[in-house]
Amino acid sequence: MIAEIGHSAFHSIINNQAAYFKSGATLSYQFRLDQLKRLKQVIRNNEQAIFDALNKDLNKHEFESYSTEVGVVYEELNFAIKNLKSWMKPERQSTPFALFPSSSYIHKDPLGCVLIIAPWNYPFQLLINPLIGAIAGGNCTVLKPSELAPATAEIVEKIITEVFDPAYVATIQGDGAQVIPEIMNSHRFDLVFFTGSIPVGYAIAEIAAKKLTPVILELGGKSPCIVDKDVDLHNAAKRIVWGKFTNAGQTCVAPDYLMVHNSRKKELIELIKKYTNEFYTETPSSGDYGRIINKRRFTTLKNYLEQGNIIFGGQTTEEELYIAPTLMENVSIDAPLMTDEIFGPILPVYGFDSYKETLALINKNANPLAFYLFTSNKETEQFYINKVSFGGGCINNTLIHLGNPHLPFGGVGNSGIGYYHGKFSFDAFTRMKAVLKTQTWFDSGIQYAPFKEKIKLL
Ligand code: NAD
Repeated sequence: MIAEIGHSAFHSIINNQAAYFKSGATLSYQFRLDQLKRLKQVIRNNEQAIFDALNKDLNKHEFESYSTEVGVVYEELNFAIKNLKSWMKPERQSTPFALFPSSSYIHKDPLGCVLIIAPWNYPFQLLINPLIGAIAGGNCTVLKPSELAPATAEIVEKIITEVFDPAYVATIQGDGAQVIPEIMNSHRFDLVFFTGSIPVGYAIAEIAAKKLTPVILELGGKSPCIVDKDVDLHNAAKRIVWGKFTNAGQTCVAPDYLMVHNSRKKELIELIKKYTNEFYTETPSSGDYGRIINKRRFTTLKNYLEQGNIIFGGQTTEEELYIAPTLMENVSIDAPLMTDEIFGPILPVYGFDSYKETLALINKNANPLAFYLFTSNKETEQFYINKVSFGGGCINNTLIHLGNPHLPFGGVGNSGIGYYHGKFSFDAFTRMKAVLKTQTWFDSGIQYAPFKEKIKLL
């Protein structure tokens, strides 16, 4: 059982973390490196228990749990371990001649004590990946897993307690709507890193504003996927099926809806059907396909199935929280299925003849977290890249932009504030401190009064 901690216990965790940070213990390169290595080792030691927890919470297959959760965390850890030293180095900057004889650099300061809040859909990696940035940056951290993925929350607490002093990294559990406002109102964190829904993101930003707490918000939205007329439809269909139905569509960057050039619509639909059947030879007891997180979400998704025509799929089993991979058409753009973030295995499809039509639909839900375009035309690619404001995305693929630690990950507008992954995670948990150093052997005196003669120099 996971233990929910009381108000006073939480106070003491926060106070201990503040003292620990102030002691300077987290600052050195060696300390940070050791903690990253220890984190990696404890995950290795508990790998099977993590897979079991993810299976219990979301029916994730071990392969999927590795490729989208644990493996992603190892990649991020390896990248941080390899690059930490260079990230921590002060960055020399050039200095204008007018400031002679001076030099300048940026010193990388940790932020201090940070709070990381995670959702339930990738409950392991969305909690641990930001923690890697926090450790690399030299911070103390409070982790808040999602209460809606309780098995994962429990194993995370176990491994964090096993490897870290709570004065350095601690886990708190409980109903987020109650616990988080309480702790954010009673303490000032140096950063709140939140991954979750847009409405809760707004609530977090509002609480944070009262104490001028900086926030990074990794939110959601409706991510479009466009298939143009000039592409290999087999590869497009496979990649769309994979991106949409992985984790039963409960992925923040899953293609939310599909727009395909009318000349290829019929063909693409047939191929999506073919590959869906091939990937998920589905029965409710099959192990390769996820389940909906809870009854509430199941009911919401089931209601969406009535908001258009089902092309294929649509089967549901409530006791199993199972919803088949489903393709729909004739969905009104004002229906909840097209105004809410779907966050489930239902893909509405629209045909288009002109790019104008695609932009009109995208702009109804502006600033998506992700954007996917299948095209072989460079001009089309540049057209959309310039026209659509989105967090990140892929040309001729889905989801995999997340897998490159050299790319920043984050939203824009309603889909989020700030970036992380790779060095961007280190930067997210670090403050750039500007330092200008002047030599003492010479002083031009140019800035001192009296100015009467100096004005002629301007
Ligand atoms: P959520 O916003 O309901 O919950 C996220 C976290 O916030 C949980 O830990 C929860 O305990 C806490 N919380 C819930 N209500 C709260 C409140 N009123 N005040 C403070 N904290 C509260 O999100 P979710 O349902 O767990 O996750 C689904 C959403 O997350 C989707 O919108 C999805 O797009 C988004 N998401 C975004 C990313 C990303 O990287 N941008 C990744 C995964 C999920």
